[in-house]
Amino acid sequence: MTNKWRLDFSGSAKRVAVVGAGVSGLAAAYKLKSNGVNVMVFEADERAGGKLRSISKDGLIWDEGANTMTESEMEVKGLLDDLGIREKQQFPISQYKRYVVRNGVPFLFQIILEPFLWKKSDSAKVSAEDAKESVGGFFQRHFGREVVDFLIDPFVAGTSAGDPESLVVSNISDPLLPVKSHARYTGNAPFIPGAVESREKLNENLFRYGSVIAGAIKSKFSARKEKSAEAKGSSEKKRQYLITDMWAFDVETTDCMSSGFYFGLCCLLLPCASKTLTDALCKAFGKDELSLKSKVLSLSYSHDGRSALENWSLCSSNQEKQSLGLSFDAVIMTAPLCNVKEMKITKGGNLFPLDFLPEVIYMPLSVIITTFKKENVRRPLEGFGVLVPSKEQQNGLKTLDRVPKDLYLYTTFVGGSRNKELAKASTDELKQIVTSDLRQLLGVEGDPAFVNHFFWSKAFPLYGRDYDSVLEAIEKMETNLPGFFYAGNHRGGLSVGKSIASGCKAAELVISYLEKSSDDKMLKE
Ligand code: FAD
Repeated sequence: MTNKWRLDFSGSAKRVAVVGAGVSGLAAAYKLKSNGVNVMVFEADERAGGKLRSISKDGLIWDEGANTMTESEMEVKGLLDDLGIREKQQFPISQYKRYVVRNGVPFLFQIILEPFLWKKSDSAKVSAEDAKESVGGFFQRHFGREVVDFLIDPFVAGTSAGDPESLVVSNISDPLLPVKSHARYTGNAPFIPGAVESREKLNENLFRYGSVIAGAIKSKFSARKEKSAEAKGSSEKKRQYLITDMWAFDVETTDCMSSGFYFGLCCLLLPCASKTLTDALCKAFGKDELSLKSKVLSLSYSHDGRSALENWSLCSSNQEKQSLGLSFDAVIMTAPLCNVKEMKITKGGNLFPLDFLPEVIYMPLSVIITTFKKENVRRPLEGFGVLVPSKEQQNGLKTLDRVPKDLYLYTTFVGGSRNKELAKASTDELKQIVTSDLRQLLGVEGDPAFVNHFFWSKAFPLYGRDYDSVLEAIEKMETNLPGFFYAGNHRGGLSVGKSIASGCKAAELVISYLEKSSDDKMLKE
């Protein structure tokens, strides 16, 4: 474990409670522990991992939650190195191939777009009202309806189980998430450099140039001009930008770009991925540091007026645990907001009402695992998954498929905002649906040899039109509750990578808070 900036708290060990042992909570706790902070992780479930859930049964291994992780966040890179699990990374043989269904048939994803559609017209520019524009509306305006139906729709569905009309451009930290996801997942998309590093950058590009790609190219070139003026003569790494038969936006930071194209960064952890990561993280904690079956019921902050430290206590469903009577200097909350809403928080002996927390909409999802004998699959696709646009429902396809290549084991998602009710269907019904879709897509014959069904009632929080209120509520909790920090997939991104980054950022904030509080305490003494 590297301790790049281990803290000196003048001998007094600080203690932080982390609520939730999903990947964000585990990453936060890991980072804190690596920096000399005592941690105690409380997890309601009997297992750690949250939405990472690997199962090994009957000689098969599969993931019922996330099975893919990208490495574009610096925090992810750092974590994989620190945990020493790089040699366990698995890459699918044809990760660069991804299929989208059209007219009932999967086709290899290729597209040439906006440069030809780009019109530098006023109507293409973003106006203030566009702040609430849906992802679907945004892409239709810039790229046309076809792109929404056959690119954006399946990628939004495949990455967040949402739909382009519910997802709001201005609410996602990464406005081009669907395209970026495509780039990450396929890895074979050349990049138009510098499209957006942030929502602000996207808006700036749109205001100035009226086009995402044109704006990206122009702003990148002007940035490069400035840079090359600065770095003239330096041995700066050379980057290559390609615009060829496929496109995607470079929505990454320059650092990422300089390390290579996405396929160089794309870290795909296939079956048992989540177990590898979760196990490695959990190993870092002693048995008194990770408390399973410990649902946090209440938290209390009491300030004695002297120091901001040691003011938190909490009560969990596991009363035997030694957390009782322990005080904490800070709390990192990573439980989904719907669970936070159920908690009782008191401040200075008074109830801290959580009625300002908005109702978050969650997408339900069923994950169906099926296996077919090889001779029963007529068209096994080479590639990393098949995405089914909702338009294809008219061709009888109801599933959100991600079919690992060259395997007899298929992971199929059913549900999301496209098919909320279907997500709740019985295993038998879902087996029929999945088999029928796989028959059409891959030519599978007969019944699957094996079926497993896992239902997530709240798979993904929806980053929809009311998402601003979610962020405001999180900020309000943090402002009004000293030493309280929130991390996880409700903030800053849905992916495993973003969740890890969110946990690590919260840990950094806690460390700064503890340092500052320690300094203040010393000054008072
Ligand atoms: P969670 O994993 O939800 O963890 C929160 C934890 O808090 C849970 O363990 C919960 O039990 C615990 N908790 C709740 N209430 C309490 C309480 N009162 N006390 C104590 N503990 C509590 N992302 C990708 O990047 N790639 C993928 O391939 C991918 N596929 C996915 C497939 C599915 C089916 C799903 C559902 C998600 C997928 N994701 C994927 C998204 C990603 O897995 C999640 O967004 C991410 O893992 C969320 O991590 P988290 O720690 O923020 O939250």
